[in-house]
Order: sequence, then structure tokens, then C-alpha cells
Amino acid sequence: MEKIRLGISTCLLGENVRYDGGHKLDRLLTDALGRYVEYIPVCPEVECGLGVPREPMHLEGDPDSPRLITSRTNRDMTDRMIQWALERVVELEKEDLCGFIFKSDSPSSGMERVKVCNEEGTPVKKGVGIFAKIFVEHSPLIPVEDEGRFHDPELRENFIERIFTLKRWREVLGKKENRGNMVEFHTKHKLLILSHSPKHYQMMGRLVARVKDLPSKELYRQYQILLMESLHLKTTPKKNANVLQHAMGYFKKQLSSDEKQELLEVIDHYRKGKIPLIVPMTLINHYVRKHNPPYLKQQVYLSPHPLELQLRNHV
Ligand code: SF4
Repeated sequence: MEKIRLGISTCLLGENVRYDGGHKLDRLLTDALGRYVEYIPVCPEVECGLGVPREPMHLEGDPDSPRLITSRTNRDMTDRMIQWALERVVELEKEDLCGFIFKSDSPSSGMERVKVCNEEGTPVKKGVGIFAKIFVEHSPLIPVEDEGRFHDPELRENFIERIFTLKRWREVLGKKENRGNMVEFHTKHKLLILSHSPKHYQMMGRLVARVKDLPSKELYRQYQILLMESLHLKTTPKKNANVLQHAMGYFKKQLSSDEKQELLEVIDHYRKGKIPLIVPMTLINHYVRKHNPPYLKQQVYLSPHPLELQLRNHV
């Protein structure tokens, strides 16, 4: 697979673009994830011409449509930032981004819970950075995360699953529009989708069953929306345990009663939070290799991303 292209707030790569001439290098992003992705850096404040160093800024007013104000001289930079951002998000369309990692808490780049000062000057953590908001509104299906949340193993796993899946989906889109390619993609991703949302699993199954009734453009459009919506929903130990038991059904007849009992116990320990997901997953993969069930062998759920990221070790 080619490297995944991700937008990123430039300061997270260690570039000295912050208002004080500093950076916010995040080694988890540059070193661990950086091996699999190509970052497209975006610094809204520098790119809209504010220079380094510059006066710090904050958000002010209505949290739903705040103003971007310089903190010492009280100058309003909102229109300048909005105008630049509207053009930049169109340019970014050409970059084929599969995700964006924003700098948390920034009045330009923060994607949630950014401080907004009310009339009395009291900050409430209810805002979104001006650029981040315009990006998300322009590209609602592209997964976004911030570096603070990225350090949470569950949120990190979810984000990485989404960017890798979107990349694989884009590869399908890059091929000739062909219903067979879509059905093949869906078949491989069924258990992954089920682990996030049984409801979407059913809806997408019904959509794919109508593959001959809908024009392929419409089919692809609806499928992509459901795919990204489903993966946005969090997996839970209960959902994962149900998927693991479902997977077990594909080789149950080949297991001895001891092996069955052991696997069920391991799944139950995982469901109760005593062991991480990687343990039942490894045992299932062992039986998949041994008994070779064709449907399970191709499931992305059982090996969704590079081993080096060790994601399922922590959830
Ligand atoms: S938070 Fe955003 S605007 Fe601020 S320095 Fe980083 S990339 Fe630039």
C-alpha cells in the first residue's frame, strides 16, 4: 500500500511556526505513525500571512461562530482567516487526504473544546478553531483527530482504523467503477464494520444486496457515507466479543471441546476487561491459519493495520 496522506498542523512536526517561534513536536505522530503516512503540513496562521513570531490570539463571542482576536491589541483576524481557509480546503482536495491531525486547543487549528471567551472574558471550552471548522464542514467524511486525543489508545486505534480503511476504499475508487470491486471490498470489511456498528452492518448489507438496482455512482456514494459513519462509532469489548464469537462459528466444527472452551473463556476474559483484544485475536488467527476458512482469511478485522503499531495490545 502506498503511504497514506494525512493533513497535519505544521507545529506538530517540529516546525517553528507557533506564535512564540516554537513548535509542538509530537514523536508519536512523527516516529510511530510517520512510517506509514505522508504528512501534508498546514499552519493556518502562518499561511494566512501572520508571520512568526506573532501576537497570540484567542476566540471570542458566540461559541458557534466565534471571532478570532489578537490577545494584546484586540485586532479581529476572523475574516482574513476565513477567506484563506475557504481557499485552502479546496486546494487540499487535490492532496487525496485520508485524515487530518489537528493541534488541540488552538483558536485556528483545534477541532473541539477550544476556549471561547464570553463578554465578561470568561473562557468556556466549547469552540472549534476557525480553520478546523471549515475543513470539517468542507470534507465531513475525512477522519479527523487531535494530538491530545491521539495519545488515548482507544481513540488512536479508531482513527488509524479509519484512515487505513479510507485509503483502501480510495484504492477501490481509483479502479474502474465496478460493482464487483465494491462487493469484494465490502466482503473483506464485514467483520470490521460489525465490530463498530451492527446497525450499519445490516444497512450496508442491504445496500450491497441492491448492487444491480442502483446506478454505480449512487451506490458508491451511499456506501462511502455508511462506511465512514460506521467506523466513526466506537467499538466496545461487548461488540468485539460478539464479533469474535461470530468468527469462531466459521471453524467451530474443527475445534475439540477443550479448544472451544478455551477460546470462549479467552473471549469472556477480554469482554470483562481482564486481557487485551490482541489475546483472543491471536488465538482466532491461529485457528484461521490452521483451518483455513476462506471467508475469515480475508477479513481485515483480523489484521487491520501494521503489526508495528501494536494497536490491539492496549484496548
Ligand atoms: S496550532 Fe495551528 S496555527 Fe498554531 S502554530 Fe500550530 S499549525 Fe500553526
